[in-house]
Amino acid sequence: MVAETKVHSPDAPREGGYATWSPSITPGIGLDLTNAQALAISFRWLAREGFAENLAGHITWQRPGTNSMLINPWGLWWRELTASDICEVDEDGRLLSGRWDVTPAFHIHTELHRVRPDARVVVHNHPYYTSLLACMGELPRIVHQTASMYSGDIALVDEYTGEVDTADLGRDLAERIGPANIVILKSHGVIVIADTVERATYLSASLERVARTTIDLMKIRVELEGLNPHLVAGMKTSLLERGADVYWSGLVRQLVRDEPEVLT
Ligand SMILES: [Zn+2]
Repeated sequence: MVAETKVHSPDAPREGGYATWSPSITPGIGLDLTNAQALAISFRWLAREGFAENLAGHITWQRPGTNSMLINPWGLWWRELTASDICEVDEDGRLLSGRWDVTPAFHIHTELHRVRPDARVVVHNHPYYTSLLACMGELPRIVHQTASMYSGDIALVDEYTGEVDTADLGRDLAERIGPANIVILKSHGVIVIADTVERATYLSASLERVARTTIDLMKIRVELEGLNPHLVAGMKTSLLERGADVYWSGLVRQLVRDEPEVLT
């Protein structure tokens, strides 16, 4: 007797995510993290994944119910940050606590937090491959399934405006960004916007990989064929719903094992 095989039509939309499958158990982290510890881990992991240009850039985290933001200080590289280095600033960027100083470049972040209730975490840096696309004024291509997680969410700000070091410049940038969650800044770098640190870290690290795929495919000059849009939506849901939390747990386990001082 031949088993019946279920064949999906490529033109049939797939729901994806938890609606399709939900794990009965997942490996956890094995410890409780403070907010500062979680953020320090995110910085170090993104540096490890090639997202950080030495000490450039920020991650800000405006936790629900607060106006203040956790942020990295000026002068430390992302790869060397520990929990006790994380500073707290108010909604205008004035230092509230922390043993270091912060730069006015945080205005990329303050105005996004102000106008976007969904922007709880804002990541900015100049990852190499994403910056190559930024120099060309190009967006990462949705040609590999990992890129599905960015489908419909990427925007290009195609004018280079120099350092965003005043609230006015930050407001102007936030207006240009609108509702996008991934923003390529011409000749500069990228902004990633998310609701949680877990998702922000996952989206940021994966973006640099997707940008590298795009650049490598451009180098060999193949004709790039986009993915079937009927399948992209379901894959996006699967990657974001099922991927972010387990990605986060895995990176925490690895980083704390290799660099336990990140928690101090
Ligand atoms: Zn920058």
